[in-house]
Amino acid sequence: MDLSYTPEEEAFREEVRGFLAENLPKEISDAIKYGTGLGKDGYLRWQAILNEKGWLAPNWPAEYGGAEWNAVQKHIYEEEAAAAHAPRTVAFGLAMLGPVLMQFGSQAQKDYYLPRILSGEDWWCQGYSEPGAGSDLASLKTRAVRDGDHYVVNGQKTWTTLGQHANKIFCLVRTDPDVKQQEGISFLLIDMDTPGIEVRPIILLDGTPEVNEVFFDNVRVPVENLVGEENKGWTYAKYLLTHERTNIAGVGYSRAGLESLKRIARIEQSGGRPLIENPHFAARLAKVEIDLMAMATTNLRIISRAAAGQAPGVESSMLKVKGTIIRQEINDLTRRAVGPYAMPFASEAVAGDNDPIGPDYAGPVTSQYFNNRKLSIFGGSNEIQRGIISKVKMGG
Ligand SMILES: Cc1cc2nc3c(=O)[nH]c(=O)nc-3n(C[C@H](O)[C@H](O)[C@H](O)COP(=O)(O)OP(=O)(O)OC[C@H]3O[C@@H](n4cnc5c(N)ncnc54)[C@H](O)[C@@H]3O)c2cc1C
Repeated sequence: MDLSYTPEEEAFREEVRGFLAENLPKEISDAIKYGTGLGKDGYLRWQAILNEKGWLAPNWPAEYGGAEWNAVQKHIYEEEAAAAHAPRTVAFGLAMLGPVLMQFGSQAQKDYYLPRILSGEDWWCQGYSEPGAGSDLASLKTRAVRDGDHYVVNGQKTWTTLGQHANKIFCLVRTDPDVKQQEGISFLLIDMDTPGIEVRPIILLDGTPEVNEVFFDNVRVPVENLVGEENKGWTYAKYLLTHERTNIAGVGYSRAGLESLKRIARIEQSGGRPLIENPHFAARLAKVEIDLMAMATTNLRIISRAAAGQAPGVESSMLKVKGTIIRQEINDLTRRAVGPYAMPFASEAVAGDNDPIGPDYAGPVTSQYFNNRKLSIFGGSNEIQRGIISKVKMGG
């Protein structure tokens, strides 16, 4: 297995770096760097720039306007984008629904929805989880009952990320309550402005309304908005989740976080010396750096196998667990490094009318720490991933 980059791959890295240097607006990279948040307009502006270049949908085939990058190219882009503080694109349309429609959607659905995902006309959100159905997703209860050429939808979704910006939601709904749970689920595309839909914000630990509850009260959805066949939604849902879990290791983001942490630890003082020389702090820093190097190598091994046509299996669960532990540890060390200056939230310390009370880099640290608690929960919690790993290892 060859883990070094070819000259073509190195040239691609240069091209990505040059593109980011020339085209990434400073307001956008600053919002990511300082954690002050990117509104809907910011995301759409960056996605339009990527789309113009043909790089918005790395996984999509060229016939649908995608970049058709291989696993190594995607990895290189992610590394460079993280280092340049470029935002991640919003995954719901591009990385989740798009591939599902290409694989299982009708021709009319592909023709209508795919271009609108690229152009930003449609902002999708994901209606999978419910108050009683997260890890145990197949127990979902939101009902869709056929009434002529419509489904009538009643129920509730929760944790709907950025649903406040969305004009569309893809939902898993129960169309047959009398069969095995997985066999009575369908996959519906729903307009958020249909009468009977109510979106209520959930305020996260960092004070932001990043997620929502979405309520459905007799919402009428045309039958042509069903993806694939009725009661086959579980198959499509699982297909979507394999796409949700790609690039889960977040190596580039951890590297950028680690570099920033080291910079801070050279400036901050402990006992009259730079914090980075404090033996306890240095030991934790070294451990997380070693873990990150090991994970980056594992990641490259998996990418190299994917490039040779082997689909990742249980390895994506390993990367999810390790990658999120590393990012959370870097957040924790950064919070400790800035000490009392970590106390105010970004909104108070950077974006508000008040002068920051500490150095610039301290402003977003606490909100990032709290926000990233989510990493080990969503996309399948770390406990669930460990269950998957142990079953495979035990041959279960
Ligand atoms: C910030 C954020 C954004 C999200 N965005 C979306 C979104 O846009 N759309 C969407 O549909 N969902 C979204 N989710 C939901 C996410 O997928 C669920 O939170 C996740 O699947 C866990 O489900 P749950 O919250 O119901 O917890 P539960 O499943 O109730 O789990 C509670 C705890 O028990 C543990 N646990 C559960 N089952 C097992 C088991 N079998 N073995 C060992 N431990 C177990 C879990 O790991 C967890 O620690 C989001 C969640 C968060 C936090």
